[in-house]
Amino acid sequence: MRCDVLAVGTELLLGQITDTNSQWMGEQFAAAGIDSLMQAKVGDNLGRIETLLRRMLADADAVIMCGGLGPTHDDLTREAIAAVMGVALEFDEAVADVIREMFAARGRRMAENNLRQAMVPVGATVIPQTRGTAPGLICPVAIDGIAKVVYAVPGVPHEMKDMVQRAVLPDLLARSGEAAVIRSRTLRTWGESESGLNERLDGVIARLDGVGNPTLAFLASGWEGIKVRLTAKAPTVPEADALLATWEADVRSVVDDIVFGVDDDTMESVVLQLLRERGLSLGLAESVTGGLVAGRITNVPGASEVFRGSVVSYASEVKFTVLGVPEGPVVSEAAAAAMAVGAQRVLGADVALSLTGVAGPAEQDGMPVGSLCVGLAVGSDVRTQTFRLPGLRDQMRQMSVITALDFLRRTLLAG
Ligand code: ATP
Ligand code: MG
Repeated sequence: MRCDVLAVGTELLLGQITDTNSQWMGEQFAAAGIDSLMQAKVGDNLGRIETLLRRMLADADAVIMCGGLGPTHDDLTREAIAAVMGVALEFDEAVADVIREMFAARGRRMAENNLRQAMVPVGATVIPQTRGTAPGLICPVAIDGIAKVVYAVPGVPHEMKDMVQRAVLPDLLARSGEAAVIRSRTLRTWGESESGLNERLDGVIARLDGVGNPTLAFLASGWEGIKVRLTAKAPTVPEADALLATWEADVRSVVDDIVFGVDDDTMESVVLQLLRERGLSLGLAESVTGGLVAGRITNVPGASEVFRGSVVSYASEVKFTVLGVPEGPVVSEAAAAAMAVGAQRVLGADVALSLTGVAGPAEQDGMPVGSLCVGLAVGSDVRTQTFRLPGLRDQMRQMSVITALDFLRRTLLAG
């Protein structure tokens, strides 16, 4: 089964928005074992959309279109599909009712043109909208006597993702004759390069290649570590989950030391959970990261149960006067230790984590750019470690956040 991707929107061509939808769909199709061999972008022009759709359908079994389903005159996806199907658009009362109810529920006046979104090509199946106002469409077409299908989903990324997962992937899999469910498990790792991980997992990957299901993929995510994702196909959810569990154990037997979480876990959510389980409160003293750690921590819902606050002691004087760091080099393990102890006292926290380092452009206190000293006070136990991080200023600061949080995580687990 081959499903190609057609993203619609003049703003994509003008470089005003990045086509992240196609990227995401490509990833989903690969994981589901659906070939996707071409991705295209086209502006909001009926003739060009229709021409391109016809061309793409000549090669692919299915084409998924995203964008252009909205209420305005430049939303032309429905018209283009109807033209290719050779049918008219028909007003769908049920869809219109949902749109009217959605506006009523939000207490907003509905502009009449919103009902354009209730126009459906004759013969198409509606993918009910759950969040936005535009429904998606599943449109059967015959191209030279061969049955094919066009999917239309909205351009807004969370609406698109919801419909692809809920309706498009199951429909594609059903058409491909594999009545299957797809489940995946992502292991979040920190502390190893992609090639290093690959090397360690060589044996597992060879065995997985032998069986073909699940598949394993590495996803590098900027300075958030490498994700290892297992994707399993099976007739039922329990069977897919059982496959995943078996192979997850296999992967973990090799790399468990660097796995910090699964699926939607983040380093900060994992650290907060560990602190919560132990009934410990957290304080921070940040120099090089200037509050980035606190920003990440407070992004996690429920952080207030654990997090006391952060002293952004950027200037040396603040380290001396507020945190009681003894005068001397401020990028050092001794300074990091004193910052942590100071933050523990000032913030009344059980645990305090401190970061001081050199983000550049120039070295400082004889320490090269990329140096990070982390201090950690847990009760009366104080420990420190120095890391050398790569990269430019921004990357170094972002990596400092996750490096320091990982140090805290490991210490909590060991204690
Ligand atoms: P709506 O019903 O909200 O009007 P639509 O189907 O008409 O949806 P568009 O108007 O094309 O979709 O896009 C709505 C928004 O979705 C855009 O402003 C943009 O922010 C985002 N978007 C559209 N296409 C893409 C894409 N290919 N990748 C990422 N974001 C996109
Ligand atoms: Mg639109």
